[in-house]
Amino acid sequence: MDKWNMADIILAKRDGGALSGDAIKYFIDEYTRGAIPDYQAAAFLMAVYYKGMDRDEIFALTAAMAESGDKVDLSSIEGTKVDKHSSGGVGDKTTLVVAPLAAACGAKIAKMSGRGLGFTGGTVDKMESIPGMRTSMRPEDFIAQVNSIGIAVIGQTGRIAPADKKIYALRDVTATVDSLPLITSSIMSKKLASGSDAFVLDVKYGSGSFMATTEAAEELGRLMVEIGNKAGKKTAAFITGMEEPLGYGIGNSIEVLEAIEALKGKGPKDLEYLCLRLAAYMVYIGGRAASPEDGYGMAKAALESGAGLEKFRAFVEAQGGNPAVTDDPELFAAPRFSMDVMAAQPGFVGHIAARNIGMASQHTGAGRETKDDEIDMSAGIILRKKVGDRVEKGEALCTLFGSDTAKLEAAAPLAHAAFMIGGEAKRPEPLIHSVIV
Ligand code: URA
Repeated sequence: MDKWNMADIILAKRDGGALSGDAIKYFIDEYTRGAIPDYQAAAFLMAVYYKGMDRDEIFALTAAMAESGDKVDLSSIEGTKVDKHSSGGVGDKTTLVVAPLAAACGAKIAKMSGRGLGFTGGTVDKMESIPGMRTSMRPEDFIAQVNSIGIAVIGQTGRIAPADKKIYALRDVTATVDSLPLITSSIMSKKLASGSDAFVLDVKYGSGSFMATTEAAEELGRLMVEIGNKAGKKTAAFITGMEEPLGYGIGNSIEVLEAIEALKGKGPKDLEYLCLRLAAYMVYIGGRAASPEDGYGMAKAALESGAGLEKFRAFVEAQGGNPAVTDDPELFAAPRFSMDVMAAQPGFVGHIAARNIGMASQHTGAGRETKDDEIDMSAGIILRKKVGDRVEKGEALCTLFGSDTAKLEAAAPLAHAAFMIGGEAKRPEPLIHSVIV
């Protein structure tokens, strides 16, 4: 590998050249083992951000990242193992609803989730707001849990796609998250190494996601489906809108509480709508239903009977958490302060810039600003109005929560500016744009 020099690789990409598979593998292997410094990796990522990569480069990058560590062997779990992954959004707590629903329908879910990235939250951080909940475990315990209750969700271990673990953290603080090749390789390297047989991908577009347009999200979805299929994994990608946050809650314990409400059938309609359809596909490609329509019927029945909520409780308990959180919200750490953000004029909410809400939530303490920041689990935002709602002057648009009033003061103008109030009622856009299979 000595024939490669990192400065030359950066130069070639900076000037828009296509890199060979060997050059890409050199970067991934050497960066993973610590032989390439963060400053060169950051420069390389920025070059990729600006110049992009062609399909062969993206395939090579994904393969090198998937092979940078261990591949999980889930063969001792019977049946098709199915996983779901979101490309990242604001208020996206779907995994906490969809995974128990699909498991309640018999799907086998052995899932690895991520932490917050940029202005988006991460399932692992949210799970850790549940008192006692573990997000790491020995591989044999992970497998035993899936065999006994059908579901286990943990954080990405250091040995699975370690290249992604390092690159993900670096991208988060170098403004290189929203790049098609980097998102594709990040998500699919983890999926290919994770040992599941089938994947449902939720690819978000709009202001609260990393893909601005439906076209860009479809390109990402198609690429990921192709990579999954090439590797012999059944893969489907939902292209879904993130023009306003999903549901009303943004933050960690705030989102878990909303997910619990959704599992009780009392959650926000947009969240329930999306979760039932994602769960339907998981049940279908997980081999438990003959069609997505049958999967939908099963997921809906699991919601209505409370079987999904029961599965959530079993999952929390198996991972050391207190299952009584489903009945007692006071078991979560309570925020010390709250602050309403008021409308300056009457009208109808025409748009809520989800990215600004995500950033405001980060400012309340719910996300990280640097790699090593501690999260305030109680912090975040509850929307009081969604797109299409009428609002009067002085009425609350949203409420900020957290342990530090200075942080809430800093977040308030950003949250306020996220709301566009107009003279006419506007219907929210359809949430699901298409499904790529
Ligand atoms: N989710 C990931 O796992 N990686 C990304 O790059 C974006 C979202």
